Amino acid sequence: MLLLADWVLPISGPPIPDGALAVSGRIIEAVGPAAQLRIRFPHKSEHAFPGCALLPGFVNVHTHLDYSAFQGFTRSCSFSEWMARLLLARRRLDENDYAVSALWGAYECLRSGVTSIAETSYTGWTVGRAARVAGLRARVYVEVFGLDDAHLPESMERLQDALAKTRHEWRAGCVDTTETAGLGPEIEVGVSPHAPYTVSSRLYREAARFARRGSLSLATHVAESQAEVELLERGSGAISQVYKAAQLWSGRRWTPPGVSPMQYVNRAGALSPTTLVVHAVHLDGEDLTILAESGAAVAHCPRSNLRLRCGTAPVSALRAAGVRVGLGTDSLASNDSLDMFAEMRAALAASQERAAMGALTPEVALRMATLDGARALGWDSVTGSLEAGKRADVIAVRVPSRGDLSGGSAAAAWSVREPTGALVGDCVAADIQMTMVEGLVVYRGEGVPVEVERSFGRTRTKLGLGD
Ligand SMILES: [Zn+2]
Repeated sequence: MLLLADWVLPISGPPIPDGALAVSGRIIEAVGPAAQLRIRFPHKSEHAFPGCALLPGFVNVHTHLDYSAFQGFTRSCSFSEWMARLLLARRRLDENDYAVSALWGAYECLRSGVTSIAETSYTGWTVGRAARVAGLRARVYVEVFGLDDAHLPESMERLQDALAKTRHEWRAGCVDTTETAGLGPEIEVGVSPHAPYTVSSRLYREAARFARRGSLSLATHVAESQAEVELLERGSGAISQVYKAAQLWSGRRWTPPGVSPMQYVNRAGALSPTTLVVHAVHLDGEDLTILAESGAAVAHCPRSNLRLRCGTAPVSALRAAGVRVGLGTDSLASNDSLDMFAEMRAALAASQERAAMGALTPEVALRMATLDGARALGWDSVTGSLEAGKRADVIAVRVPSRGDLSGGSAAAAWSVREPTGALVGDCVAADIQMTMVEGLVVYRGEGVPVEVERSFGRTRTKLGLGD
C-alpha cells in the first residue's frame, strides 16, 4: 500500500512535501515524493491523509502503564510527599486492577501516537499482556526493590518469577487470540533495580550481573530528586523521613554510601551501554562524565520532573557529551497525559531554563521523541524513523489548519516550509489520525474512513482484556 500525506517527516532526512510511504506487510519499502512512488509502485492501493503529516510512531522511553489508574490522584507537590502518597495508594490495588490500569494506558499510548514503550513495572505481566492486546512494541523492565540485604535472595527469586510470568503471559496471549495471533511485535523483557533510594548496592550488583548473564537490558531511576542525593550522601532528608513514618525502613541495616546517586550505581556495576538511566536530573560534572563514559542512555521526563518539583535534567550537556537521550512521559501518577507533543514542548521549555548549556530546538525535541528514543533503547535499526527496511511504525498527524486561512492545502499554508515547528508547537495527542505498528492499524481517528483500516488487510477486530 501507499500512504500519502501533505508531508512525510522521515526524521532521518529532511521533510518531504506531498510525500508518500510504501508499506509491504510489516516493513517500510520506500519513502519519497508521492509522484515518484506512484510511478514506482503503480499497483499499490493508495490511502491519503489530507491535511496530515506522516511520522514515525513515538518512542516513549519511560512509562509505568500499570499506574494509569492513578491519573490525577495528586497535584504538584514535592517528590517525597508524592512518594508517600503513592506508597499508600498502591496498596489499594491488586494485580488484576493493575492489569486493567495497564490496558487503559496501552490504549492511551495508541491514541497518542506512541508505538513503542519502555516500561518499568513491578508485576511485569500486567503490562506484557496490555502491550500484546493493544499491539504495542514494548520492553518491560521488571522491577526489583530492597535496601535490606537480609531479603536479597527472596528479591532475586521474585524478580526471576516475575520475568518468567511476563514472558509466559505474552506467549499465552498470542496463542489464545487466534485473530490477532502474532500480529503485533514481540515484547522484550528487561531488569530494573528501582533506584538508589530503594536498592542496596549488593542488590544492584546482583541484578546487573543477572541482566548481563541473560543478555537483558537494564533500567534504573537515578538522581531524580534532591532528596535522593541527600539520602545517599548523608542518610538524611525527606526520603528517610518518609521511610520512618511508613515504618518501611529502620535505617539499621543500611548506611549511606556517602556518594552521589550516579556514583553509587556506577560502583555497583549497573551502568553499561544497555542501561537506561531514568531522570538523571541532579548530576555534577563528575556524574556527567561517568554517565557519558559508561555508554548508558537517558530517559528525560520533563513534565514529571516539573510536577514533582525535581528540577531540570541537563539535557543539552548530556547530548553534547554524546549520551543518547530519549523522551518519556513517566506514569500518569506524576503526569497529566501520555501526550508526546506536550512532552516535547516541556522539554523545550525545560531546556530554556538551563539555556547556558544551549536550548533545544523543535527538531531536536521531535528527534528525541522518535529516533533518539529508539537509539536509547537499541531499537534504531527497527523503528524511530521512516526508512526503507524498518518496521512500519507510522502515525498520521493532523496539522492545525493554518491552510484554512489561505484556502490552500496544509502543505502550502505551512509557509514556514518547515512543518516540524508547527507540529511540535501546536499539535496535541487528539490530532493523531492513525497509529500503525508493524503495518497494522491499531488506532484510527474519527476523520479516517473505516475502509482505510479494513483495506490494510490485517485489521485488529478483537481488542480488550481477556479477548
Ligand atoms: Zn519511573
